[in-house]
Amino acid sequence: MTENFENMIAYQRLDIALRKMIIEFNKHPDKKRLDAERTKFNDVQANLDAGSVEAQTLAEEIEKIYTEFKATEKTLDSVIKDYEAATDEEKAKFLPQLESLKSRVDSCKNKISSRIERIKRISSDSYMNLNTKKAVKDEFDKIKKRLDEYKLKIMPDRDKIEGEMKALESKIDGDVLSLYKKAKSEGVALPVFVPATGDNENNYACGGCGMLLSQTSKSELKSKNICQCETCRRLIYRK
Ligand SMILES: [Zn+2]
Repeated sequence: MTENFENMIAYQRLDIALRKMIIEFNKHPDKKRLDAERTKFNDVQANLDAGSVEAQTLAEEIEKIYTEFKATEKTLDSVIKDYEAATDEEKAKFLPQLESLKSRVDSCKNKISSRIERIKRISSDSYMNLNTKKAVKDEFDKIKKRLDEYKLKIMPDRDKIEGEMKALESKIDGDVLSLYKKAKSEGVALPVFVPATGDNENNYACGGCGMLLSQTSKSELKSKNICQCETCRRLIYRK
């Protein structure tokens, strides 16, 4: 085997170790807890935001209704004055208007008080949400701190692996390395760099997925010692 491939295999071994480390880190219970707290925090914040938008809308509505209420009340007062000044025979003709104005005033009052009730409910919900938010934030910070300490603990190992990988990169054929990186970025699962299997060059198969190689791939493997599996897109090398 060429030295190139040996370095490529060593590089991949480190890459797998690094991947394992990342999976391990992501599986850490605190990582899940942190994600859960983050979701809770966002939910509470969304509730607070929705409450504040609704309260704002209600306040604007109250302002409009109050303007209508004052104007209607003013009209009502003047109609009452007209009614009181009218003769007994004339009084009756004011009654429908008085009724209608009174009912408009009542309706305004009801609309305002129902909106005030809603604002009160929003305020008490917000108060609870703010307390929850604070508790969630405290818990989040606590977990984050623990996780950061854990990260710091594993960082030297990670740096060491990454350093070794970097050092190997210059010793690997550029084309092979970029094919490897490309396959990985396209979602090919590790190991990406696999040996050809089979006892002779006529029945070469992919060491990753086990599929027999096509005639084209076989010739490529014979001439360049490397080809790409047409089935799983892994890089197949010849020992
Ligand atoms: Zn394959």
